[in-house]
Amino acid sequence: MFKALVVEKDPDGKTFAKVSDLTEDDLPPGEVTVAVEYSSLNYKDGLCLGSGGGLVREYPHVPGIDLAGTVETSSDPRYKPGDKVVLTGWRVGEIHWGGYAQKARLKASWLVPLQDGLTTRQAMAVGTAGLTAMLAVLALEKQGLTPEAGPVLVTGASGGVGSVATSILSNLGYEVAAVTGRPEGADYLRSLGASEIVPRDELAEVSERPLEKERWAGCVDAVGGPMLARILGQIKYGGSVASIGLAGGADLPARVIPFLLRGVNLLGIDSVMQPYDSRVEAWRRVATDLPLSRLEEISTVASLEDLPALGEAILAGRVKGRVLVDPNQ
Ligand code: NDP
Repeated sequence: MFKALVVEKDPDGKTFAKVSDLTEDDLPPGEVTVAVEYSSLNYKDGLCLGSGGGLVREYPHVPGIDLAGTVETSSDPRYKPGDKVVLTGWRVGEIHWGGYAQKARLKASWLVPLQDGLTTRQAMAVGTAGLTAMLAVLALEKQGLTPEAGPVLVTGASGGVGSVATSILSNLGYEVAAVTGRPEGADYLRSLGASEIVPRDELAEVSERPLEKERWAGCVDAVGGPMLARILGQIKYGGSVASIGLAGGADLPARVIPFLLRGVNLLGIDSVMQPYDSRVEAWRRVATDLPLSRLEEISTVASLEDLPALGEAILAGRVKGRVLVDPNQ
């Protein structure tokens, strides 16, 4: 028997989550069975812990879009018992049972080996949010961004993606401006390396003018909506915005003028279906570019029992930094 956080749907269609005892026979098919050491909490997990947000197809369901642990059994030659592995994406935790359990059964092709220099705990302090932040930085670099180009804006900065993006960029020598709706968190953001705090209200509305003063050489945007539209008009000539999230809305009420007159690039970032090689490259860069002391600073640890309340908190924008989940706690 092992413990899992199981979400069930009652006959009225209402979902509820509770910690249950499962057996290995309950696990879905897959080539690799992993003893989960840590999982983490992301915005999507908030959705899957509650109504499902259209992501979950079948109940009962075990959420948890991230996990890291040790291989127990494997019918795939790429992995053997004792190997440390990490999983993010591939819609695990949405349409496939995920990491909020002491055991998970998965496809071998979804896994990557734990990066040298990282523990499973550190990998999950990074998790999907942190990996996405790294993918965004890699995409900006590919467009030629360097610290000399000027300040880089990070939106939703106190959240999971934003906190890791701020830490990575400042560690790489960038001047980071952090947008937040939580002014009381300014010290936290400065401790991660932000040199300027931009109040959310300042960028919350679309400007009448399609082009404003050129302020930012690049941007990692977790918010979308009117804020992303506004920021496009403030990007320096030839600069880029990596769009990773929609915490502030899925619409983009923007004009094309910044693309046409300033050569601004809007880069889409997806962490879910990233091919193996680019995942491994992103994890390699995480291990070198994210200071582990800062990783500790942004992380708190929760148990399976804590998850239903934490799911609500992340959807309400009340979670700061990264939450690790220890299913063995
Ligand atoms: P968090 O909830 O941890 O962070 C989001 C942050 O956005 C909040 O902490 C808050 O920061 C800010 N925010 C919340 N609501 C609003 C609002 N209405 N207007 C403006 N800002 C707001 O989530 P994650 O960091 O885990 O994820 C961020 C986004 O990225 C989500 O939309 C998520 O779905 C998406 N995502 C996409 C991935 C991909 O592959 N593209 C992978 C991972 C996440 P503050 O309080 O500092 O303002």
